[in-house]
Amino acid sequence: MLNSLTISELAAKLAKRETSAREVTQACLDQIQRVDGSIHAFLSYDAPDALAQADAADQAIAAGATRAERPLLGVPIALKDVLAVKNQPLGCASKILAKFTSPYDATVVEKLKAAGAIVFGRLNMDEFAMGSSTENSAYVTTRNPWDTSRIPGGSSGGSAAAVAADECLATLGSDTGGSIRQPAALCGCVGLKPTYGRVSRYGLVAFASSLDQIGPFTKDIRDASTILSVISGRDERDSTSVPEPVPDYTAALTGNIKGLKIGLPKEYFIGGLDKEVTDAVNAAVKQLEKLGAEIVEISLPHTDYAVAVYYIIATAEASANLARFDGIRYGLRVDGADPIELYSKTRGAGFGPEVKRRIILGTYVLSSGYYDAYYLRAQKVRTLIRQDFLKAFEKVDLVVTPTTPTPAFKAGEKSDDPMQMYLSDIFTISCNLAGIPGVSLPCGFSTNPKLPIGLQLLGKPFGEETLLRAAHAYEQSTAWHKERPNL
Ligand code: GLN
Repeated sequence: MLNSLTISELAAKLAKRETSAREVTQACLDQIQRVDGSIHAFLSYDAPDALAQADAADQAIAAGATRAERPLLGVPIALKDVLAVKNQPLGCASKILAKFTSPYDATVVEKLKAAGAIVFGRLNMDEFAMGSSTENSAYVTTRNPWDTSRIPGGSSGGSAAAVAADECLATLGSDTGGSIRQPAALCGCVGLKPTYGRVSRYGLVAFASSLDQIGPFTKDIRDASTILSVISGRDERDSTSVPEPVPDYTAALTGNIKGLKIGLPKEYFIGGLDKEVTDAVNAAVKQLEKLGAEIVEISLPHTDYAVAVYYIIATAEASANLARFDGIRYGLRVDGADPIELYSKTRGAGFGPEVKRRIILGTYVLSSGYYDAYYLRAQKVRTLIRQDFLKAFEKVDLVVTPTTPTPAFKAGEKSDDPMQMYLSDIFTISCNLAGIPGVSLPCGFSTNPKLPIGLQLLGKPFGEETLLRAAHAYEQSTAWHKERPNL
């Protein structure tokens, strides 16, 4: 099936003229038709537009365009509903942006298009990327392709499920506290969060600007490396993007990790960690050792504070970022007798309960009298968390952890208990607070039911080459990434 190919497998077939961009795009559209009624990864897509882009890619291939110039030529890629694509809906799975269409392309979208990708479809998510299950979408809960009674993770649940269900070859999502790595782990695909500043955030609807980063979901590490090379780089329109050179990340995938030092943080193997997750991660650590890595116990002593710090900083930034949705400038407007009434009616009707909870929390921690006690203190602890990692990286090249404490949970299981939901991000949040890169990749399955388990590797700032080299070496020595759900 063409829709289940990796990007590199498709590229080889396109180069030999064994298939066409139209055929692979049609195969993805057929798969969406067949399975998305039960998965609900897509909020919308425009099939004629996708096929028109595919035809343009086929013409470019016929005219001699090469993969070296356009590494994603003819590759169908769908996007989380938080990334701006010119003339496509941009809704953040929120009623407040229900009728909004983007007037411009995000930088990552410009780059995907220039690389030849077929950019189509809007993927479901938790409203404004706030959540861990997609149950906070204003429209529908995406289902886990491995068991449709379960959630796919979040907030980029649609992005993970679409790749796992072979509805497209790759997707993009955003990760503020784990929203790429956690759903990738729960759906059994690869999810990469780059170093803060590696990828431009221009055209990403902001949730928490000091934490947000865009990254790919793919079927293997090579494809994640290909996409990272395409989307990375300095962008004048995002002053936090960094002018570090962008290497060809696929060149780093040598398969050799002899002598690499990998840290195992003792604070991550704690109570509440599912037995099958523990076993799968321990087996993966043994496998890394067999491949020549040296495993070193490390300590990240401020780990315990990560969730609390995150929910102060992320909500504070969200309360400021979401102030722009006022009924005047974008999307929904509910009229009122005066501007204040218009604002409150619009925001009252347009935002869902979790978004409101975060805005209220974030406004509170920033309010005078509480700023020092909460926000300022959280910023200080954030620095300690970053220093934990920088200190560990004096001794080790990478850190290995589980991505999530448990495999995918049932829809409805945690939706009434925000604290339980927040704790499902316990292993992914520190990475954003520290600004370092992280990847999740499949490392096993639970039995009864069979659900994917994710391994998380964390790297030094701008250390994506080493991170991807280790992830790739592990992946290629196992067969977990080849397993597919029964749809
Ligand atoms: N689940 C976390 C939250 O609810 C992380 C979300 C994200 O990374 N966008 O905030």
